[in-house]
Parts: sequence; C-alpha cells; structure tokens
Amino acid sequence: MGPLIDAYNAVGSPDWRTQLQGSITSADALAAHLPVDRDAVAAVARVYPLRIPRPFLRLIRSPQDSFWRQAVPDPAELADSGASPDPSEEDRQSPVDHLVHRYPDRVVLLISNRCALYCRFCMRKRRVGRPVNIDWPQIRQAVAYIGACPGVREVILSGGDPLLRKDEQLAETLAALRRLPQIEIIRIHTRIPAVLPERVTAALVEVLKQFGPLYVNLHFNHAEEITPAAAAACSRLADAGIPLGSQSVLLKGVNNRVATMRALMRRLAAVRVRPYALHHPDPVAGTTHFRVPLAQGLQIMRSLRGHISGLCVPHYMADLPAGGGKVPLLPDYWRRQGGHVEVMNYEGRLFQYPDV
Ligand code: SF4
Repeated sequence: MGPLIDAYNAVGSPDWRTQLQGSITSADALAAHLPVDRDAVAAVARVYPLRIPRPFLRLIRSPQDSFWRQAVPDPAELADSGASPDPSEEDRQSPVDHLVHRYPDRVVLLISNRCALYCRFCMRKRRVGRPVNIDWPQIRQAVAYIGACPGVREVILSGGDPLLRKDEQLAETLAALRRLPQIEIIRIHTRIPAVLPERVTAALVEVLKQFGPLYVNLHFNHAEEITPAAAAACSRLADAGIPLGSQSVLLKGVNNRVATMRALMRRLAAVRVRPYALHHPDPVAGTTHFRVPLAQGLQIMRSLRGHISGLCVPHYMADLPAGGGKVPLLPDYWRRQGGHVEVMNYEGRLFQYPDV
C-alpha cells in the first residue's frame, strides 16, 4: 500500500478493533451478562454464529426488546430446517465467487463474511460468520468479471459487512472498481453505524470520500438503535458529502407496529438518512420466526403514507423466490368503478378521480 493508505491508517482509531475483539461470542460469555438458557444459546450458536459487540449488549434490557430479539440466539432458529438457506437463489446467480449478478446493470460484490453483530434474522445466514476466506485473488477475479460486463454500471459492496474490511482493503477494492470506465455508482450496504459506530473513523471517511459517487445504505430496524453514537457516525458520513439511505427489515417483535415504524422512519430522516427500503423478511432457514404476513406490511405502509413526511416513506420490497428479484409492494389506493376511477386517500376516504 502506498503513502496515501499509510496516512489513512495513521489517523485511524484502534478503538473499534478493541470493541470488536471484546464482543460476546460464546454462550458462556452471554450468560454472564443476560438471563439466557446457556445450553440453548450454545446449541443455536453451533449452527449460526453469535457475536454481540459490547455497546450493543448494553442496549439490551429484556427478552421483549428489539435489541434482544435481533441479537440473542433463539431456539426458534433451529426449528425451521425445512426452509431454504437461500430462497432468493443468490448462489445460483453467482457467476464467480462472492459476486451476485441478477440484474442487467448492477452486481453485488460480497467482500466480507464477517459482521460486528450477527443479526438473528439475517438473509445471508448461510454465509455470515462462516470460516470462508474471501481472499484478494478472488476479489480481483470478481472485479475482472465486472470489467468484462460493459452493461454493469453499479456495484453494491455487501457481505457480511464490507466496513469490517480494513481501510486499505476497502481502498484497494474501491480503486479497482473506479478504474473500470463503465462503473458510475458504487453503493455500500452496512450495519456498522448501528452496531459498531466507532468503526466510522475519520480515516474511513477519508477513504470513502476518494471514490464517489458513492452511496452508503445503512441498516437500522428500530429508532432506539439510533443512539447518540450511531447518529454521530451518520453525521461523519453525511458531513463528508456521502449520500445516506436506509434499508430496514420488517421483523416480528422488533418493528411490526405502526408507531414503531413511524418512529424509526422519522428518526432516520432526522439524522440525514433517507429511508429507502423496507424489506419484507425472506423465508430464510433460521429466520422464519421473524416473518409477518404481507397484509401486515401493507397495512404499515398505508399507515406511513400521508401520515408522516413523504421523505420518511420507504419502498416496501419483497425479494421473489427462485431469483425473481426485488419488487415493490404497494397498498391498493385506487380501482376503476364503471366509467371513473375511485381513489382512497391516506384517511381512507374515497374520491372520484378524473381520468382521461
Ligand atoms: S450485519 Fe447485515 S449481513 Fe451481517 S448479520 Fe446483520 S443483517 Fe446479516
């Protein structure tokens, strides 16, 4: 790495690494802090890894709260073995290792298998935390694949969490992508500001600033996750001119109430994160206890539109089985009635709308 990267590292803080190393990763350690069934947690963690960083652990109050539901292994994870680990068939749409090519103009590059928190609802449970080495020859091979696809204009860095890569590795990957003339947009999907905000160092921000246009989509599922530290991490990114969006997942027992969802979307906008997507939970093995009916998601969406600022209303998305891709799901606001169109407003009142 060159002097530019050395400079990045010189200003970087090691605090986030210390935080990460001090994370809870075993049933014994978790039982020392929370009233869990140690053996039950151990049984789940043998199948789906456990990691909770200390700052996130301190937010957990009871088994009913959103932090517990998202972070603490639950025996229900082992009860849906009939479900597919990859229902949207990402692996089938992977022409080279660690890359998903589903749509004509964009690809997902999975540059990390690690996360600061192993979310119990993760749609990539089959990958995250696994001892799969993503080595740099593989990433270079994936970048070479992208270079050979002239129709690809956007690359989404995902994982795992891409921001668990070292600054210099991120810089190397971003630089390699920027050398491809057809790449217009780079997007990073990360949960880091919610779970390990100390990782958003000045050095990291400096790296990201070099490679715009770059969009960062953050993952928050509950307004209480936007702690002062998380909000400060968002500010560091936004102050650097990096557009921030959010993607949340609709999760039973976490955010499937109207008031909870409204609070989350408003709080995101207040910290300069534009609500972008609300994902309906996929039927992924180990996560189906988080699923809610589509009708409930549509009802929540109806409760957002018109009731809170349009800036705060995300797209409600379902990822179709068998690689069908993501589609928006919308409440029915209109119908044709004889010779006219009848439209329902946000209060549920019907209006006749003049059509041509
Ligand atoms: S941070 Fe993202 S990729 Fe990692 S476990 Fe959570 S949802 Fe999955």
